[in-house]
Amino acid sequence: MVTLTIDGRKVTVRKLSTVLDAARKLDIPIPTLCHHPKLSPSGACRLCIVEITNIARPVTACTILVSEGMKVKTTSPYLERLRKTTLELLLSDHPNDCMICERAGDCTLQELAYFYGIRENRFEGERRLYTKRDENPFIKREPEKCILCGRCVKICNEVQGVSAIDFGYRGFNTKICTPFEKDLDCEFCGQCVAVCPTGALTGTMWVQKGRQQDVRDVDTLCPYCGCGCSLTLHVRRNEVIRVSSSEDTINEGWLCAKGRFGYGFINSPDRLTKPLIRTAPKTSSLIAHYSSLFREASWDEALDYVVRRLKSIKDSYGPDSIAGLSSARCTNEENYLFQKFIRAVIGTHNVDHCARY
Ligand code: SF4
Ligand code: SF4
Ligand code: SF4
Repeated sequence: MVTLTIDGRKVTVRKLSTVLDAARKLDIPIPTLCHHPKLSPSGACRLCIVEITNIARPVTACTILVSEGMKVKTTSPYLERLRKTTLELLLSDHPNDCMICERAGDCTLQELAYFYGIRENRFEGERRLYTKRDENPFIKREPEKCILCGRCVKICNEVQGVSAIDFGYRGFNTKICTPFEKDLDCEFCGQCVAVCPTGALTGTMWVQKGRQQDVRDVDTLCPYCGCGCSLTLHVRRNEVIRVSSSEDTINEGWLCAKGRFGYGFINSPDRLTKPLIRTAPKTSSLIAHYSSLFREASWDEALDYVVRRLKSIKDSYGPDSIAGLSSARCTNEENYLFQKFIRAVIGTHNVDHCARY
């Protein structure tokens, strides 16, 4: 363990901790944009600079390791001036269209600009303008809003192991690119969107549906598979408009494409609300045949029908002529009951589950 002093307060942390880790242990706020606790540090945004006794210049707290007896200062007029200048430089080439940005109210850059009181910008210069938009089904990329923090690249590489994106070009022309600048074609897990501290990455389905201040958050579990990831549904006017996951959950905030973007069925008008019973075809016309395939029924009628048919098939052809297929969308308890029903009531081991396909 290592003991150091931060802003006059002593703290003991594990060896190989960073100064930022130690400051956070003391709940001392240090602004960051590129830092993420699950990613390797890069010191890219330069906002977490601190002064350390015996080190001539400010250093980034996210990259410097603690040492015994170290004395750290996290704030001073000098540090705050440097931080403000860094923010001004970032914002000098930023669209600043918070009024129509999907991430307004949930944007670290906007929050820092607010706290540092940046309204006017004294740095005028060339601006990045990108006309090409990425055509992909889930992720809206607005490269003008990118501050090149690198979080998306690292999460895709270090956590997802996909490496679908990286830094391309150099200097002012640097941008986050896919290989050969083709449209994004990846796992669409959306982790990059989740860690982006600005509006450079958002969900295509979120556009103009409502921003963070407009929504009610409802915690629930993902219905897609047995992993049981925790989800937060963002609900506006009784409609699920976005899904996220908090970092202090069993899945640590990570989701797959289905969990993050596959929520359209919840409010879909095509969703079945009543049982349907398949009817015998009455016509040789194909269109008429398909439109007459199902008719709506009450639950009592549907369940009576299922019981009657299962009994008659079992009586005529034996229990092994029946098979049961269950679903990963059911709970463990429901799946347990289903296999019990197929084995104990129907009398066959013909039971399977879609997660095995
Ligand atoms: S990314 Fe943030 S700062 Fe930039 S326009 Fe959107 S809300 Fe405003
Ligand atoms: S959606 Fe997932 S796989 Fe695709 S770029 Fe983002 S992090 Fe990588
Ligand atoms: S897209 Fe977002 S996460 Fe990626 S580098 Fe730009 S600002 Fe950072």
